[in-house]
Amino acid sequence: MERVDVVVVGFRCAGAPLAVALREAGVRVLVVDGDPLFSDQPISTHAIQPYGMKMLDKVGLGDVVRELAPHNSAFRFQVEDSYLQIELDGETLDSRSPRRCKLDPALQRAVLARGVEARGETRVIGLLRDGERVTGVRVRGPEGEYEIGAGLVVGADGRNSTIAKLVEAPAYLESSGDNGLYWSYFEKNELFDRDPRYRWGACIHIEGGDARAVFQTDSDLLLMAGGGPRERVAQWRSDPSAGLMRHLRSGGLTAPLVEGSRMIGDPVGLLSLKCFMKRAVGPGWALVGDSGLHIDPTPGLGISDAVRDAIALAEAIVADSEAAMNLYWRRRDADSVGLYYFASDMSSPDYNNPFTRMLFDRGQDDPVVKQRMYAMMARELHPQDMLPPSRVLRWLGSETLRGNLAPWGGLGRTMRLRTLIDRQQGVLDRALDRAERGIVDDSLPNLLN
Ligand SMILES: Cc1cc2nc3c(=O)[nH]c(=O)nc-3n(C[C@H](O)[C@H](O)[C@H](O)COP(=O)(O)OP(=O)(O)OC[C@H]3O[C@@H](n4cnc5c(N)ncnc54)[C@H](O)[C@@H]3O)c2cc1C
Repeated sequence: MERVDVVVVGFRCAGAPLAVALREAGVRVLVVDGDPLFSDQPISTHAIQPYGMKMLDKVGLGDVVRELAPHNSAFRFQVEDSYLQIELDGETLDSRSPRRCKLDPALQRAVLARGVEARGETRVIGLLRDGERVTGVRVRGPEGEYEIGAGLVVGADGRNSTIAKLVEAPAYLESSGDNGLYWSYFEKNELFDRDPRYRWGACIHIEGGDARAVFQTDSDLLLMAGGGPRERVAQWRSDPSAGLMRHLRSGGLTAPLVEGSRMIGDPVGLLSLKCFMKRAVGPGWALVGDSGLHIDPTPGLGISDAVRDAIALAEAIVADSEAAMNLYWRRRDADSVGLYYFASDMSSPDYNNPFTRMLFDRGQDDPVVKQRMYAMMARELHPQDMLPPSRVLRWLGSETLRGNLAPWGGLGRTMRLRTLIDRQQGVLDRALDRAERGIVDDSLPNLLN
């Protein structure tokens, strides 16, 4: 039987950087993916945030992305007319959005050129075991079924991960979104480059209970997405093009952009989304990317975090100890729980309220808050710590003096969420602290009490 040190299952945003980092550290690594090599990943939009570009640079893959798509001049989160925007210079702060049909093949080609061995159309159908320990995979590929022995099997196989199912990786955070969305590509309307309303490269816009997104992508195309409550979006199923067009035509920012612009390709949609955080390591196995941590994609950090965790896992594998693997798991959790809730909250129907809009209006003009927003996007600050409570109270006070009491309405909801996040952050920080001291603790974090 063929034997390697590590089998990586999945060859996209998590698997490709992991494989190249391992290969260059001298680990014998083999990648298998059920999809053909150089194929599209259709169920994902593709805004790569500055943090993701930094992570890609760390494994020498940033320039691969830069060659595919222009940089975004800003990234905007907008609720009605209120917005928070980070300005991007394309160098120290760089964000790009190449379509996955370009991004994934380019990443794969780049890592193959650096010596990684990968087999497409090769699906894992079972695990080899020695007692509790996973010792390899059984695959079905173009040459038939065969076994590959490995010191470690890594599931980089996405949100419906086969590896997570086979090892029965338990989830200790789970939720499902209430929204559906469809998106497609459009010829770039010339308004996009000259109208001051579009002085950004990527924008997520919430209006009423609806969401719309516009990303400048490669080949002079714009990605435009539309979403809202699942029951309503599900009605587009019979004619997604008509449903998406109607939705974009009724959006303040998207209506002018779709006028006279041809839709390129059929819309792609997603009507249900399960989010989770799962155990990331076990005897002979590990999970990386969406397979172990799936966060609502609204803030557009899935690709960034997949690369971050791929790098961290490669370091742990090279360190070759149980303590290092445990540390990889615990750090992923402590770094992600705030974003997990922040992202779900952004897609919740109650997010669009006077309190949120006040935070956006005030925050956009506040240099300290803007600075903290940059730090949050760079993952140096947890999302829940972005707004200093003293600032928020001051803003509420000044709205009250102007006779505007509406923002107080959203405060209770935000405080409840903050209390929940703080409690869970505490549990995960303590687990991380033990891991940093080299204590290998196998227990699942108890996030319920
Ligand atoms: C609607 C939506 C929009 C999104 N938008 C953004 C965005 O704008 N920006 C952003 O950063 N992130 C976004 N994301 C998140 C992003 O798509 C993911 O975080 C990222 O793709 C995770 O990469 P991955 O490598 O872990 O998994 P995947 O990209 O899912 O790749 C998994 C691979 O594993 C392979 N595989 C699965 N099972 C097997 C098996 N049994 N054997 C062999 N191979 C197998 C699959 O064929 C696939 O190639 C979005 C997600 C969704 C759902």
